[in-house]
Amino acid sequence: MPKYIFIIGGVMSGIGKGITTASIGRILQDRGFKVTAVKIDPYINIDAGTMNPIEHGEVFVTEDGDETDQDIGNYERFLNKNIPSINYMTTGRVYEAVIRKERNLEFNGRCVEVVPDIPNEVISRIRKAAKESVSDIALIEVGGTVGEYQSLLFLEAARLMHLKHPKDVLFVLVSYLPIPNIIGEMKTKPTQYAVRSLNSAGIQPDFIIARAALPLDEPRKRKLSTFCNLDRRDIISAPDAECIYEVPLNFEKDKLGERILKKLNFKGKKSQNNDWRKLVNKIKNIKKSVKIGIVGKYFMSGRFTLMDSYISIIEALKHASWFYGSQSEIVWLDAEKYEKDKKYLKELRGYDGVVVPGGFGGRGVEGKIRAIGYCRKNKIPFFGLCYGMQLAVIEFARNICGLKKAHTTEIKPKTPNPVIDLMPEQKKKLRIKAYGGTMRLGGYNCLLQKNTISRKIYGKELISERHRHRYEFNNAYKDILMKKGLIISGINPESNLVEIIELPREKHPFFVATQFHPEFKSRPLNPHPLFREFIKSCLKK
Ligand code: GLN
Repeated sequence: MPKYIFIIGGVMSGIGKGITTASIGRILQDRGFKVTAVKIDPYINIDAGTMNPIEHGEVFVTEDGDETDQDIGNYERFLNKNIPSINYMTTGRVYEAVIRKERNLEFNGRCVEVVPDIPNEVISRIRKAAKESVSDIALIEVGGTVGEYQSLLFLEAARLMHLKHPKDVLFVLVSYLPIPNIIGEMKTKPTQYAVRSLNSAGIQPDFIIARAALPLDEPRKRKLSTFCNLDRRDIISAPDAECIYEVPLNFEKDKLGERILKKLNFKGKKSQNNDWRKLVNKIKNIKKSVKIGIVGKYFMSGRFTLMDSYISIIEALKHASWFYGSQSEIVWLDAEKYEKDKKYLKELRGYDGVVVPGGFGGRGVEGKIRAIGYCRKNKIPFFGLCYGMQLAVIEFARNICGLKKAHTTEIKPKTPNPVIDLMPEQKKKLRIKAYGGTMRLGGYNCLLQKNTISRKIYGKELISERHRHRYEFNNAYKDILMKKGLIISGINPESNLVEIIELPREKHPFFVATQFHPEFKSRPLNPHPLFREFIKSCLKK
């Protein structure tokens, strides 16, 4: 029987519940346990794929083709393994499954009710996730904040699991302790209320992860212990960290791993893996830095710049930079300004490299195309991801092959030169408005062509990478583009779809663009080879 640890948020969102969950997983994994992590999101959406990235952050794509919350990406990066679709659920997904079972007469004619049928479905999914990955310990992150109406049924599932197997289920509350400027003191009251709120759902936390700008001091620990009914040792200090990968080490300063194992009655093993610690030490001592511009559009929310839409790209850039003993300074470049005035393009010279990431729709597209053209002409290392690859093909077709009106049919359905076009199987889906979960998703093979940069970078012929797109390189234009010097270095062997394009080294220091999203597979201990090579070229510049 695996053990289950629920991670629940208190006080407010955005305080790092996902990183906390991933970090606890890392700590337990380093002690030799098999760990998996499950994310529950309380919204009705079946998956994250239909949500606006500015509002919700990045849509992370799993190997088996699910469009999930970005926290699944954190789990993969910290646990250094793939997390399957069964580990992600939403209210919509749970209700949909229960209703489908009801329609299939699987409840034998009885009345199907919110309680217990919804929590039961949640429990069976959690168990299945733990079983399928043969885990000793499953972590379950409950999205949202305690006290919210929409997470109640998930807390109810957690309570019921604990009721049945009290020795096998633990609860961790991730809370926030503000230090208001006018008071100048760290305040515990919001956390006390969060615990009360959790208590009213029938749950007493076993641990409090005390998120705050600063480490927790003794008086605060004592106060939380007394008022929240916990052993002082189970209140774990979690100050803001410079680097998220440091968080497991911070938790271990307060002996979180040891305390968890004690409560689970697992024989305490010493941490067996030093690689993580070594990496964090390395990162903290890096002085030099490489400057990367990301030309995108999903980062302004009112007056605030949010980076969540591109989180896997940011992490992949960091992993690769650290590999070469450098930090990465990432600057957000609004694609739309290059549409307003070409003169802004000159600023790209100030960057060691430029990334054009994935995206949808027409806003900023011409600006991105201009930026790509500028990088091509001025030999600035360029890395295009998904939409970034499609737009690089358009730029090449327009400016090198003279197909002045070349475009993607996503933006100009009637373009005379549809160099990027809808995949045939996608046409029907769009006609019947079947948008949700119907893109080309997840891992697909890619055959790398001989004597290409990509083949050399990967060091092998057959690779698999993750996808999320509807449009594709139109093979009718392959000959024209290749004749003018575009190299098609990766092709999906089953469908013949173009997966990677590049320009030869003699022409450009690094000009590579992929239809897939390599960023989803980069891990801190195992940076992605394409990102590594990109950064290497940037450092040379
Ligand atoms: N909008 C493009 C498509 O659907 C690219 C998608 C992406 O960048 N993820 O094909």
